[in-house]
Amino acid sequence: MASPADLRTSDALQVLRRVFGYDTFRGFQQDVIDHVVAGGDALVLMPTGGGKSLCYQIPALVRPGVGVVVSPLIALMQDQVDALTALGVRAGFLNSTLDLDARRRVEAAFLAGDLDLLYLAPEALGSRATVQLLERGKIALFAIDEAHCVSQWGHDFRPDYLALSMLHERWPDVPRIALTATATSATRTEIATRLDLTGARHFVASFDRPNIQYRIVPKREPRKQLLSLLRDEHPGDAGIVYCLSRASVEKTADFLTANGIAALPYHAGLDAATRATHQQRFLREEGLVMVATIAFGMGIDKPDVRFVAHLDLPKSVEGYYQETGRAGRDGLPSTAWLAYGLQDVVQQRKLIETSEGDLAHRRGLARHLDAMLALCETVRCRRSQLLEYFGEPGTPDCGNCDTCLTPPESWDGTIAAQKLLSAVFRLDRERNQRFGAGHCIDILLGRRSDKVTQFGHDSLTVFGIGGELREAEWRGVVRQLLAEGLLAVEGDYGTLVLTETSAEVLGRRRSVLLRREPERPAPTRSGRSRAAVAVELPPAAAPVFERLRAWRAAAAKEQGVPAYVIFHDATLRQIATDAPTSLAELSQVSGVGENKLAKYGEQILTVLAGSPA
Ligand code: ADP
Ligand code: ZN
Repeated sequence: MASPADLRTSDALQVLRRVFGYDTFRGFQQDVIDHVVAGGDALVLMPTGGGKSLCYQIPALVRPGVGVVVSPLIALMQDQVDALTALGVRAGFLNSTLDLDARRRVEAAFLAGDLDLLYLAPEALGSRATVQLLERGKIALFAIDEAHCVSQWGHDFRPDYLALSMLHERWPDVPRIALTATATSATRTEIATRLDLTGARHFVASFDRPNIQYRIVPKREPRKQLLSLLRDEHPGDAGIVYCLSRASVEKTADFLTANGIAALPYHAGLDAATRATHQQRFLREEGLVMVATIAFGMGIDKPDVRFVAHLDLPKSVEGYYQETGRAGRDGLPSTAWLAYGLQDVVQQRKLIETSEGDLAHRRGLARHLDAMLALCETVRCRRSQLLEYFGEPGTPDCGNCDTCLTPPESWDGTIAAQKLLSAVFRLDRERNQRFGAGHCIDILLGRRSDKVTQFGHDSLTVFGIGGELREAEWRGVVRQLLAEGLLAVEGDYGTLVLTETSAEVLGRRRSVLLRREPERPAPTRSGRSRAAVAVELPPAAAPVFERLRAWRAAAAKEQGVPAYVIFHDATLRQIATDAPTSLAELSQVSGVGENKLAKYGEQILTVLAGSPA
């Protein structure tokens, strides 16, 4: 078998086929690779799962010298190197987790030209010793991964990234390629400026993730709703559940475990060792559910995350899209599910009101929240709205989001809104009292609760005027008025107050169109769920796929690597379907490169030939 060094003389397509076992490039991978191989700088924006890694890995193999990859994800470097080693690519990393011996070995390999790729933490480039080491070797290119970390306004800012502009000064002839999945054009400009990449060619892919089904449902009993989602549509699947607070992370993980679903918590309140173990287990074991705050997830390139569920409202569309983007990197059908309710709006508005920072900062937060709320309340295709937000207007309805699958009805809520706002107006006059949404709805429904009688609110003119709607519907009205800024909340108790625009509704100068609250959750099985994927396997292939999975699990365990480092699900499915009977046939399957063919080929043929266990 040819060593990767011999491959350098061949072209990129051959590397793609021989090393990675893939047939064709995706999207503009080929353009990026040609550009960088020729020595050009590039800024690459592609959604998660788009295939960014090949854009620098292949040029590193084709160009003479070592490809140096700067990445903030120290905890994942070992896995990245393992995955490359499994392909026969010579890779190493330098970061603070290495002991002196291991470090020396990597340094020697680098200087001897025995590496194809070297991963570095950004802070390493701040050390003179590392810079001197790099100056003594031959560098094929610099890849700056997670390049949005240089953005000071983003949520992942790493001060060490600012120093990366020095790469160009020290190594003016070495091409640089910066890559990120974070989208807005403002961030892109900032990345280019800060990394001194304004002369670089920009490659911007569509951010659509067609295999992810977006769904946003009204929040009722969120944990129970989550449980049915997992039981009905994702039994045995790996996934991530995001919660806002540490406490709700713990509660939710306990709840799932108590209900027979293997789940682990992850948040900043856990010590570093526990976090590392949980992350490792999530990557290595199959079918684990990670319940986490947003502290979890950046750079987790586990390809078979089948669902991302949010039990609380994300603060921005950017965050939501990044988090949901962790589902389905392997391109197979996956679910992004968010449960959202009135309390979320109240809570987020309150957080903004009490947040530190000046007025401009709070306005920025409010703008982000408004965009997120607009996505939740839309009666349009969620995906086309998302893509429009990221600068891709005019995409047709997707057919794979909840609004496309079960179009919501809208109704004229002007009168309901007027009733609610009048109630708020009456209560607002009792200045020193605090009345939240629940109390308001009690009044509209004519319920003599303790609080209603205590304050004599059963004598208000608005008492009992709202019998035409159910409580859940009234909550929907409150939520949507809050989302549209026709109503606001104030203070610790979520007191409802009028806004400047409320008067337009009360004065009949503005009508209000509302999304109808479904009686029951919309039927969610869309034919794209896991069950449907399993159906795609021909009946005879299903048991073969299970045998291959069992073989893979054993091999992964023996080598101490995640299962997907051996083969992805998509590759095993293809093998099970094609049922190759020779190494030559097996080598035709996408994802089977030379090295893996040599290493696992015979074992796979044996599994295929074997009778069912
Ligand atoms: P990103 O870093 O952009 O999130 P990755 O580089 O991890 O994405 O690629 C996502 C998945 O797609 C990986 O499993 C990768 O092996 C696969 N992939 C990338 N390029 C191709 C291709 N040309 N053909 C087939 N699979 C590909
Ligand atoms: Zn749609």
